[in-house]
Amino acid sequence: MSLTDSQYNEIMREYDSRRSYDMRVASDRLREVEDRIPRIRDIRREVCELTGKVMRDTLLNGSDSSDALSEMSSRLHELSLEKERLIKEAGFPDGYLDPPYICPDCKDTGYVDGKKCHCLRQKEFDIAYSQSHLKSYLADQSFDDFSLSYYDDKNASTGKTPRQYASLALKGCRTFAENFHGKGSGNLLLHGPTGTGKTMLSNCVARQVLRAGYSVIYFTAYSFFELMSDKTFGRESGKNDMDYDNLMHADLVILDDLGSEATNRMTVTHLFNFLNERIISASPVLITTNLTMDELMKRYSDRIFSRIIGSYSVYTLLGSDIRILKRYK
Ligand SMILES: [Zn+2]
Repeated sequence: MSLTDSQYNEIMREYDSRRSYDMRVASDRLREVEDRIPRIRDIRREVCELTGKVMRDTLLNGSDSSDALSEMSSRLHELSLEKERLIKEAGFPDGYLDPPYICPDCKDTGYVDGKKCHCLRQKEFDIAYSQSHLKSYLADQSFDDFSLSYYDDKNASTGKTPRQYASLALKGCRTFAENFHGKGSGNLLLHGPTGTGKTMLSNCVARQVLRAGYSVIYFTAYSFFELMSDKTFGRESGKNDMDYDNLMHADLVILDDLGSEATNRMTVTHLFNFLNERIISASPVLITTNLTMDELMKRYSDRIFSRIIGSYSVYTLLGSDIRILKRYK
């Protein structure tokens, strides 16, 4: 990963301070619960005494402690059941005494069994590709905010009305995002004119997938091809290879506004290789484009086009410019 030491240290400091917060909340809640149910405090003391006593006996007397151990563990079990019951009866929510981890998988440490947790990988992506803007932007983009009422439901000159197309796209994207499980989740292509909601839908997908704990890398076509040509021409430090590696290993890659770049033979090859590798490893990609299917075929060759059609769910978005409609609503 192409982070500097200081960027990495900054991330680790964030984890540290989050963990202190987690512990503080947990200990405040423990005090609150113990004040309300004094028996919980007695239970905690008994647990401490029990475990301390067995440890002392084992260390000092060297006694064969298997009996003592099994007696202790059955008593500990009893105490833990009693504690659970008391907390529940007092009306505290489940898990109230657990620290409020943002990522329960790594308990806000960034690592699981010595390997980077998905939350750490995402933080690295966010910094490496300056995508923190994506997160804040995504905060208010959920499928529930996607309103079909902006789409015209009368004009069906292309077979369906714009609203019917949008409804299919919404359903397809939602299903994709809700069932996302990393590799093998399929691919999406959203196409249609500017301002018909493609970017909003892809943001809704990104948000849901991120929330489920998967990593997402977002690229405009322009920045994607810039990275690809850096990889081809960059010879120093191997940085671009690592970037490319990340691009290949992200759980979901979003390629926004395909067709807005200046196309040449090189970009066509890059795009083909990229889509091909992602398909071979069953790694999902979401593409948005203003181009029609005919235009895609003309611009990127039949090879790419047949790749896209064959392994992507394709949705069309049409209609009067929603951004304009919104402004005049
Ligand atoms: Zn984590």
